[in-house]
Amino acid sequence: MLARRNHRKSLTMKTIFLIFSLLLAPLPGVYAQSQPAADLIITNAKVWTVDKTHPTAQAVAVLGDRIVALGSNADIDAWRGASTRVIDAAGKLLLPGFNDAHVHFVSGGLQLDSVQLNDATSAAEFARRIGEQAKKTAKGEWIVGGGWDETKWDPAKLPTKELIDAVTPDTPVFVSRYDGHMSLANSVALRLAGLTAQTQDPPGGVIVRDPQHNPTGALKDAATDYVYKVIPPLSHEKRLHAVKRALAHAASVGVTSVQDMNPEYDDVAVYSELLRRGELTTRIYAAPLIAQVDDQAKLGIGHAFGGPYLRIGALKGYADGSLGSATAYFFESFTDQPNNHGLLSDEMQPLSLMRDRMMKADAAGLQICTHAIGDQGISMILDLYAELAKTHGDADRRFRIEHAQHMAAKDFDRFAQLRVIASVQPYHAIDDGRWAEKRIGHDRATRTYAFRTFLDHGVHLALGTDWDVAPLNPMLTVYAAVTRATLDGKNPKGWFPEQKLTVPETIEAYTMGSAYAEFQENEKGSITPGKLADMVLLGGDIFSIDPTQIRGVKVLKTIVDGKVVWDAGAGQ
Ligand SMILES: [Zn+2]
Repeated sequence: MLARRNHRKSLTMKTIFLIFSLLLAPLPGVYAQSQPAADLIITNAKVWTVDKTHPTAQAVAVLGDRIVALGSNADIDAWRGASTRVIDAAGKLLLPGFNDAHVHFVSGGLQLDSVQLNDATSAAEFARRIGEQAKKTAKGEWIVGGGWDETKWDPAKLPTKELIDAVTPDTPVFVSRYDGHMSLANSVALRLAGLTAQTQDPPGGVIVRDPQHNPTGALKDAATDYVYKVIPPLSHEKRLHAVKRALAHAASVGVTSVQDMNPEYDDVAVYSELLRRGELTTRIYAAPLIAQVDDQAKLGIGHAFGGPYLRIGALKGYADGSLGSATAYFFESFTDQPNNHGLLSDEMQPLSLMRDRMMKADAAGLQICTHAIGDQGISMILDLYAELAKTHGDADRRFRIEHAQHMAAKDFDRFAQLRVIASVQPYHAIDDGRWAEKRIGHDRATRTYAFRTFLDHGVHLALGTDWDVAPLNPMLTVYAAVTRATLDGKNPKGWFPEQKLTVPETIEAYTMGSAYAEFQENEKGSITPGKLADMVLLGGDIFSIDPTQIRGVKVLKTIVDGKVVWDAGAGQ
């Protein structure tokens, strides 16, 4: 702890010295002699800076945690000293580190060690994998996670408890659908939760039932709480392990910052513990649930409160559910479910509950990030945001709508006027794009994952994955935004191709756009002298290769805070 603080102090002294030497140096020769040596130089690179004042370069110098110079190999060579580490990039592409604007970091870390159900291609395979996991599971432990997706099965029917009861006679199971808006419980879990045919649907939730009115085991949105509340909380050791797994995974795919949506307070405590130990290798901005607004409001902190590695000051709310679970809230019914137009979340019932929480958050200067997917859900959140701005006056709030998937035509202008950030996940587009048109019809699909329309309206985009709903690997997200080629191979030219982004637009939204969404655009998001030294060296040039190849590009090195945290060559 102390060593770390002294290290920081010496960096500050170095930086002050640097500024003075820049100011005092009358001649280039004198300047070259008086500047301190860089700690790290990356030379012979194709640097794409995402900084419009200096878009490309060959080399970068780093001093402590900051980028200090950018230029040609010869320019940067002047920063070389006896102890400077030099990375020869061999002509490879160097980008600012990726900033994933929407993740569920601990779930992601847990899922890395949990049963993998997402690529199970049949109900039988789904059941087989759960049975295998049950054999490895200690008595009394639950099987959770999974990320199943019944749309990959034939027929694409929701799973039921009967499918898995025989292979899990003593093990409680509560495996989640990949969108996180539905889970399947087996009979053991239903018994522990006390769920029967007599149990009522809660507000904002649905208990899926058979013709005899018995629960099938599938629970939607708020109904999942019946089971979640009987699952024992994660132990500290397990949580710590999950975070470490998540940090290592993020480093390996070039993600240097994440914005963690609805963490539990115990998650933030683990981040804080790792920060003290100097073991946090991904920068984290944590947005706990808006239901807990009083805690942060009472502390008197505002948005983006904290330090370069860990910030709080944001809140995550839910307007509705998801398209896949048919709980996203639309003005009109689903095309394939004429009696259903979705479900408002329990936080929106009554609406005054959400309004009061948002008013408190906004009065305290906290940032509001609201999950809204269906067009009416989005519209209602824009109404609330407009009301907040009117009540509390003009301010730099950076309201966010998470997902912003299905827009009403009338709302793009309003979205821009209120300066709301669209925090979007392009991978969902190539995933949902397999079946979305069946659910909402052609007209609504034209305004679905409408990234180009957002940019045309001057809306700020922040990119992310929603990991573990989608993979954390940014190359899959870039591939998705640029090609819009659905995962089933049926739209090789792109699903609603007019909404494609270019590679430079995608990279900008994934770096500067995400940094802006967390009030950090002056600290990170581009390779600019003075900013934090977070960079990623890629194995392929995503600007010139065939876009279909982007998803296979590997990360060679990930640099956070001026330190190499992932080196593919070192076989970490
Ligand atoms: Zn999410």
